[in-house]
Amino acid sequence: MRLADRQRDLPPPVNYDDSNVFARILRREIPALLLHEDHLCLAFADAAPKAPVHFLVICKRKIACLADADESDKAVLGHLLWAAAEVARKQGIANDGFRVVINNGSEAGQSVFHLHVHVLAGRSLGWPPG
Ligand code: AMP
Repeated sequence: MRLADRQRDLPPPVNYDDSNVFARILRREIPALLLHEDHLCLAFADAAPKAPVHFLVICKRKIACLADADESDKAVLGHLLWAAAEVARKQGIANDGFRVVINNGSEAGQSVFHLHVHVLAGRSLGWPPG
């Protein structure tokens, strides 16, 4: 099936709202504990950590959720995973195990509609997730 046809089958994209909290962090309107920044992404500590180590990697592009990413975003998506591992290495958690999570849509637990990757570590993480 062609990409365009597949995308027609997806639920309607969530509109990107520039006032979301991560857009405000990107604009430096609100503070965050920054861990990494480059031309494609920003990583910072989660304000309400769900594990002893919990940070987020967000893209600089205005993508609301993973399902809104299209073929032109493939490099950005790969970069987010690379950055997650790079920050994990710098935080010293890479050898002990860490979990990478993307919540897509409110039913899956997404509360901030700017694409982001969670990285969690420092405790035993159950499977399957709730
Ligand atoms: P999600 O529920 O997958 O959309 O994840 C959003 C995450 O953003 C949650 O883990 C929140 O604790 C976190 N969060 C919300 N506001 C802030 C903030 N101002 N700084 C850092 N993390 C935040």
